[in-house]
Formats: sequence, structure tokens, C-alpha cells
Amino acid sequence: MLALHELTQTEDFIRRHVGPGEQEQNEMLKALSLDSLEQLIHETVPEDIRLTKPLTIGASKTEEQALSELKALAQENKVYRSYIGMGYYGTHTPNVILRNVLENPGWYTAYTPYQPEIAQGRLEALLNFQQMTMDLTGMELANASLLDEATAAAEAMAMAKRVSKNKKSNLFFIANDTHPQTIDVVCQRAEFFGFETIIGEPEQLGELDVFGALLQYPGTTGQVRDLTPLIEMIHARKGIACVAADLMSLVLLKAPGEMGADVVLGSTQRFGVPMGYGGPHAAFFATRDAYKRSTPGRIIGISKDRRGKPALRMALQTREQHIRREKANSNICTAQVLLANIASFYAVFHGPHGLKTMAQRIHRMAVIVAAAAKAHGVNVRYDQFFDTVTLDGIDKAQVLLRAQDAQINVRSDLDNAVAVSLDETTTPADLAILLAVLFGPSETITVDTLDEQVRSQPNIAEPLLRASAILTHPVFHQYRSETEVLRYIRRLEGRDLALNHSMIALGSCTMKLNATAEMIPITWPEFANLHPFCPKEQAAGYQQLLTQLEQWLVDITGYDAVCMQPNSGAQGEYAGLLAIRHYQASINQAQRNICLIPSSAHGTNPASAHMAGLKVVVVECDKAGNIDIDDLRHKAQEHAEQLSCIMVTYPSTHGVYEQSIREICEIIHQFGGQVYLDGANMNAQVGLTSPGFIGADVSHLNLHKTFAIPHGGGGPGMGPIGVKAHLAPFVPGHNVVKGESTQRAVAAAPFGSASILPISWMYIAMLGSKGLRRASEVAILNANYIAKSLSEHYPILYTGNNGRVAHECIIDLRPLKEQSGISELDIAKRLNDYGFHAPTMSFPVAGTLMVEPTESESKAELDRFIEAMIAIRQEAEQVSTGIWPSEDNPLINAPHTLDDLIEDDWTHPYSRDIAAYPSLAVRANKFWPAVNRIDDVYGDRNLFCSCLPMDAYKD
Ligand SMILES: *Cc1c(COP(=O)(O)O)cnc(C)c1O
Repeated sequence: MLALHELTQTEDFIRRHVGPGEQEQNEMLKALSLDSLEQLIHETVPEDIRLTKPLTIGASKTEEQALSELKALAQENKVYRSYIGMGYYGTHTPNVILRNVLENPGWYTAYTPYQPEIAQGRLEALLNFQQMTMDLTGMELANASLLDEATAAAEAMAMAKRVSKNKKSNLFFIANDTHPQTIDVVCQRAEFFGFETIIGEPEQLGELDVFGALLQYPGTTGQVRDLTPLIEMIHARKGIACVAADLMSLVLLKAPGEMGADVVLGSTQRFGVPMGYGGPHAAFFATRDAYKRSTPGRIIGISKDRRGKPALRMALQTREQHIRREKANSNICTAQVLLANIASFYAVFHGPHGLKTMAQRIHRMAVIVAAAAKAHGVNVRYDQFFDTVTLDGIDKAQVLLRAQDAQINVRSDLDNAVAVSLDETTTPADLAILLAVLFGPSETITVDTLDEQVRSQPNIAEPLLRASAILTHPVFHQYRSETEVLRYIRRLEGRDLALNHSMIALGSCTMKLNATAEMIPITWPEFANLHPFCPKEQAAGYQQLLTQLEQWLVDITGYDAVCMQPNSGAQGEYAGLLAIRHYQASINQAQRNICLIPSSAHGTNPASAHMAGLKVVVVECDKAGNIDIDDLRHKAQEHAEQLSCIMVTYPSTHGVYEQSIREICEIIHQFGGQVYLDGANMNAQVGLTSPGFIGADVSHLNLHKTFAIPHGGGGPGMGPIGVKAHLAPFVPGHNVVKGESTQRAVAAAPFGSASILPISWMYIAMLGSKGLRRASEVAILNANYIAKSLSEHYPILYTGNNGRVAHECIIDLRPLKEQSGISELDIAKRLNDYGFHAPTMSFPVAGTLMVEPTESESKAELDRFIEAMIAIRQEAEQVSTGIWPSEDNPLINAPHTLDDLIEDDWTHPYSRDIAAYPSLAVRANKFWPAVNRIDDVYGDRNLFCSCLPMDAYKD
């Protein structure tokens, strides 16, 4: 019999995370004529970049061990009640939304809705988000979410430059009562766009010739004022007026759109999304209809499907950086879809009446604080405010001492002043404690007596109060009972295909398992309820988590340091390029402004390079898909004086380990440049090789790809950057939470979307050194198994030296199209009928599908996918041989809906069975697309981005 300690299940999680078991792995190896995983890696990963030592992360932990270790860390955080404000407020996530959206894999494991027929649920939630934004801001058009308020402000500045008629001005003005972190991010963004910035009193605007200006409403210290005269001054110079606004205040206040604003942006955090020590939260961005083609981010629009039914899709910019590259409006790719959905459901849940009551209650409490101040002889800075009261000349040291005792945080970064922001979670009892902290105990000046006193005194002048109705659309009125809300959420969820239905083999996106144990900690109050600017001592647990995760990522990447600020991959690219530029400036090489980018690169690469003020020079690829070394050397040499860097993805987006990657790094270094290695494909490197080992200088990691953070239907994400030591002083810093770096920030919060980092922590802890390597190996095995199994039926576009692919493979559909007229789009949609999400379509090569199965898919699921692809190939054959006409066959009619099937006269030359139940696997597990194929052209010609009136859905 075994000893007790031998009866442990420590490697249990590896077996659960890695889809194929040992026997399945052996079967797949056999199909590839291989004896072992070792041999596969030997044949696939170039010898000269293979790590010789294992990772030092240690043994894998069970779910229970990892969770209890993390719980101990979490308990090092002290959750004080926060009155800090500055863009982050307490909020209650309605429990029905918490459990059924935030904690529900049907919502959090979905992908960005590029395949709209199987994404109508989250598209509807996002359309509601846009409608809510438009209503509250008073604008004509809104996008479906940016990364945070500060970056949204930076995007507003960039858009102002694009659309302003004041072409000669290079000056952007920032009001000095803007949140400080926003100022930091906007100034950083201005640097390499070459804009001048002035931060000052808004009254100055009269004398300034600006292309745009940013105002905050209400101001960061609480002031509410009429922006109309300021906006007129901006317009007098043909400048663009951008307003960063607080969403909750807009429920009561006159909308910035009604004051003439051109762009209104801000955070939707306080609409039900926990503060999470900084994120993730969705930013909103609203503007004039006239600027729709210049708007950053994604806009959801209504089009129609083949049956003429209204159907939603991402409009205009769907893949805009992929198409326009360095000319794109922005580099936004992953945004904050899951969080936007939560905010949108929050508005649906509360409705206009509930929100009004809430906003009035918050405002009343602020008025009570101000009244108490007056009663105690303390100066209140502004007459008009919404939720934030700034107290001047108060005994700050005393207040801070009492606050410490009462375990509350107030805003303390102001000179000789303290500010407090009230929120949805503040109760009358909290308010009583707050008054005692601010003004000392009092028997007579109480919440009740003050409430009595202020009730008849409106604090905001009539002209600044909202007269217009908000949220008039039926969706904000229909779901008042919890039963109705629950069913609405479920109904939308049912329209979306997520990882809890079937494999989503999206090349470059790494849709792996997001294990439940990894997800559990993110809603623990110790992680969820910390304000990002709370004193560091209160965040000791977070600090330990960050340090540990940084150390692990240093080990995995082979770099010297990791910066956790960027909250998407594209933002990591931008941050990494800034580090390069600032480093080069520090060694008197600021003239280096050329960025080499291979033609195969992801569209965010050139878009980010442009934002960092770099000129993109494209390097060609050869016939085998590899970077053309001669072209690279030639261009590096030609631009030697100006060469800043190369951006290269490894393994390449063509799905192979280029043999010459070390040489590529050497050539760039030889001509004085730096190597940016796009880490989106880290899933093919972890434990096998690493960017630092290969010779790169900086990379971003997509924690939402390789390290198990779910995609959330299009965000959240985390894009930390790893750097070699010489770049470490140049990673982003933060002007509110000061750390080692003195650089400006690229995101609002110092540690980006900190509250989702426990997911990656759990992932690494539970896999350990061995499991992490095993995950990479099996990801490569799965991809090669698919490539091999499909290669008889479709050409595999690129393979490495031994005919192997990396962790993904490109299936070339162009010959089939030539022969049968069936396109990659038809095949993508037909896959829906077979119960699968389409792989990445036409990236990086038009007319192809890029398949990345990840290690998490079992052989059984891979076989179902392979079977579907082969069956589709045979269907295409029936079209090319004329058995099915080219204008009526199951491929071009795909996807099929229930509406198709119940039609009385079925006129197609194939059966209903073939239409909807093309395989046995589908019979057992059918997914019904909610709409038929959507008309893209119609949607873009007739852009309509707000909620339809209900009767549009009838018939
Ligand atoms: C996903 C991806 C990115 C962008 O990451 P986001 O988080 O979506 O901004 C960049 N490069 C490559 C190769 C990618 O696959």
C-alpha cells in the first residue's frame, strides 16, 4: 500500500487543464508518426532557442491549496470604506448580474463578436450600453467601450486632431480640475503625437488657439458648473470640446451634449463594476454622428439578416486596425466588453427611476456633508457639486488620524484640503461616521437634523439640472422584477456561442480553459473592493500578488523586469514602444523613429507604432511565410541612422517557429535598434523557449490569451510588458501612486486591471513548472494533429522545417474557392451549423482560416472539429460538381436558423436534416444561431447604432 503522502493529487489540475489524457496524446503522436512529445518539440522548436533549464516556479498545486494560499494573500488587503473618488466609487453589483453575468462562463468565455450570427446576445447588451451612454451624455453616437477613462480622454484628443477644422493649431488644452491620472495619460499620449499641451484654468481658453480641449464634469474636486461658455470659447477657435464626465452625476445633471460638447467620455465603473484596485472597467465614448468614421473603438450597429430580420453586428471599424494599420483611428483591439455588459445590465436592472433615486440619494448625502461643514465653520470649496465635497482649511492631520481609526479613506492629495466622494454604497450610518471623522463628534449636528435642514434647499441651480428624459427605450423599463431580469440575461446568453458550448479555435487568440478555480477569487471582497489609490499599506496582499506574479513572468519570459500597468495587448505594445523611445532619447538617439514590421504582423502593431511616433517600414515575407532576411538586412542597413526597432511576433503569425529568429534579433541590434517581440503567441513558448532567451528587448504578454484570463466577449485583458534591464527605468509610472518608474502613465490605474490578476496567479500556481511546459507541448501537439488530419483535404499554408506547425496552423481555402466558388466566409458560417465558432478568418492571410486549438481541447473535441471540416469540404465538392447549385446550397445559405426549418415549403435542393443536423455530434448538442447571415454592406450604408423601438422586432 502507498504511504499517505503518496496518495496526493497534486498534479490533478494539470490533467484537467490539458485536454487530452495520456492515451489520447499517444494516439495523436502516433498519427503524427512520433514516439513522444519530446520528439515533437525536438522537430518543431529550433534547437538554438530551446531552453536548457526548467522553469523555477515549482510544483503544481491543487485547486484547494492554491485557493487557500491566495485567500491568505487576499486577507493581507485591508478593505477600508473609500471616499476617495477620483473616478472610482463604491457600487453594488446587483447579485443577479454578479452570478449570471460576471461569474457565468456563458458570458465571460465568449470571444469578440466578429461572428455576429452567434453573438446576438452580447451585441444586444452592448447596443443597450451605447443607448445608455447616448441618453446620459446627450450625444448622437456612442461606441461600445474603451479601456478606461484616462485612455478614453487620450483617444478623444487624438480624434479631436483628426476632425478639428483648426488645422494649424497643435495645442491641446487640459482643464486643471481633470483627474490627475487622466492628465498624466493624456500628456504621455500627446508626446509622440507631437502635440503641445497646456494644463490650466479653463477660463484661459479664451486666449488659446486650440484644436481641442478636455474639461472634467463635475471637476475632480467636485465642482459642477455650466460648461456652455467654455465650450463656446473652444468652438470659437474651431476646436473640439471633449468632456470627461461622471455617469452617475449625469442622471441628475444637464447633459454635456446639451451644452455643446463634441465628445463625452468617462468610466462606467460605478454602474455595478467593483473598483478592483483599478480595474477592469469599461470606459464610454460618445460623439457627434458626423464623426462616426473617426471614432476609436467598436460601434455596434443594426443591420438585417437574409430574412430581413433586424440583426446586430460590429459596424464600420470591425477590423479597422487590420485593414488600415498605421492609419487606423486607434490601436484598440481588446476592450472591456464584459464590464460594459455589466454596466448595461445595471441600467436595465435599475431603470431610469431607480437610477434617479440613487443619484438623488448620493447627492443628498453630499449636501449633508456640506451642511455639516458649514455648521462646523469649515469652508466648502464649491457652491455646486454632485457627490464630491472639498473642504478647505480643515485640520487635515486630525481628519486623517480619525479616518485611520474609523478605517475609512478620504481624498488627501490636495493642499490644505480634504475631499470626500459619496456613492451608492454609503448608508446613513456610514455618513454619521464620516461626519465624526471630518468634523469631530457632535450631539447636535447629526445626519437627521442636517437632512431636515437641507431638504428644502436645492443645491444645484435649475439650469444645470437635467430636464431631458433618460433611458426611455423599453429595454430600460421592461425588466423590473428579478425573474424578468434573470430571464433576460439568460435569453441573451443563449444566443451566444461561448467556450461552455464548444471549442473556439481562434488563431492568435488562444481561447483556452478559464478554469472555475481561477475565476473564483476575482469577486472576493478583499480583491474586488479596493480603491486603486488607497494607501499602499492597505494593499499588502495585492503587492505580494503582484511581486510573485512578476517574478514568475520574469522566469517565464527571460526578461529582467515586468510592468503590470497596460490593460490590453495593444496597450502593452504602446507601453513597450514608449520604453524603447524614452531609452533611446536617454542615450541621445531620439532621432531613431523607424519601426520595421513584417507584412504578416497583427494590425495593432503598426497602429501602436504610429501612436509612439514611429514610421512604419514593412519587411516582406518569403514564400514559406518567413521574414525575408535579405529584405530585413537591407532595410535595417538603409535606415541604420533612424532605426528604432522591429516588431516581430514569435512564433510568427504564420504559425511557424522561424529558424532565423536569433539572426533577426542580431541584425536589428547590429544597426542600433531594439527588438519588440509581440508576445501574443507566448502559448507556444512557455517552458520551451522565451523572448529574453531568444534575444528580444521587450514584449507584451496577453494574460487574456496565454495565462487563462477569459476574453469576456471582447475584454477585459491584461498586457503587462517584460523588459531587459536597460529598458526597466522607462516602463510606465504613475503620478498618483508613485513607484520606481518616474515615467508618465499609459493607463488610469497603476497596476492596470489588477483584480483579474488572481486568475493568472492561480493558473501558474496550479500548473507549476511542469504543467506550464506540458501546456505548451500539448498546444503544439493539438495544432499539429489538426494540421495533419486536415492536410489531405485542405492545403496547410505554412509549415516549419520538418513539416510541423507551431501552436496554430493556417488552412488555405483559396484553391477551394477557385474550384467551387465557396468562400472562407461560407465555411465560417457553415461551421456554426456544425456547432463551432469559426477560426480566425482572413488573418494574417486573406482567404484562409487560422486554427489554434490550445492545449485545453480533448482529442474528442478536436476530432469533432476535424470531422466537421472534412464534411464541409465534401459539401463544397457537391457544389463544384454541380450536384448543388452555386446559388442554393447549405454553405452559402449558412448558418441555418429555426426559422428556416419551420418554413412550410422547403425549396432547397438539400434536406432540412443536412441544413441543421449535418453530423451526429450536432444532434447531441445543437446550437441554434439566432439570426441568418447578416448583411454587412447594408449595415454600414445605413448605420444605426441605438436601440430599435420594440415594434421593429415584430414580424
Ligand atoms: C491579440 C493580439 C494583439 C492585441 O492584443 P489585445 O489585447 O487585443 O489588444 C496583438 N498582437 C497579436 C499577434 C495578437 O494576437
